[in-house]
Amino acid sequence: MEGQGYLLTGRAKVLDRPRLSWAEKMYLPAIVGGLSVTIKHLFRRKATVQFPEQKRPVPISYRGLHVLKRDENGAERCTACGLCAVACPAEAITMEAGERKPGEEHLYREEKYAIKYEINMLRCIFCGLCEEACPKEAIFLEPTFAPAGFDRNDFIYGKDRLLEGSKREEIIPPLTS
Ligand code: SF4
Ligand code: SF4
Repeated sequence: MEGQGYLLTGRAKVLDRPRLSWAEKMYLPAIVGGLSVTIKHLFRRKATVQFPEQKRPVPISYRGLHVLKRDENGAERCTACGLCAVACPAEAITMEAGERKPGEEHLYREEKYAIKYEINMLRCIFCGLCEEACPKEAIFLEPTFAPAGFDRNDFIYGKDRLLEGSKREEIIPPLTS
């Protein structure tokens, strides 16, 4: 039965196997060829960056981590109206509203403010709809990444990490710096 396919179709072609040299049998040309490709890449510009020590510049339109803004006098702009939370398709924003007390005008711009404001960065899809929905220009997405972490709770960002002038600037340096 051997060679039946050849007999039936007549299309089989028997190839001559080239005789391999001793070096080819030891894969030496292939090893040298592979090594030369690797060595060539050592002297080329690297495609990878050592994040977070090195940062790749991102476009101005990049939507990264959120910031809660203050006004020109340093008072918090957010009035806890909840429009950003309603607009958020990922239901990532939660807040608790409070009333400003007399003497707190320098802290909060309007009579209502956010006692608690949290964004779950694991839910957020960085769509920017919260920024668009805000009537007070209080929330923006900046060209910044959230730092990596091992605990899911670390990705619930409260006012301590969202508010302008908080410890946010220390722990989350902008990518464009
Ligand atoms: S960027 Fe989008 S997903 Fe993230 S908090 Fe804002 S609205 Fe929600
Ligand atoms: S960030 Fe803007 S939209 Fe969201 S609660 Fe504050 S004022 Fe309202």
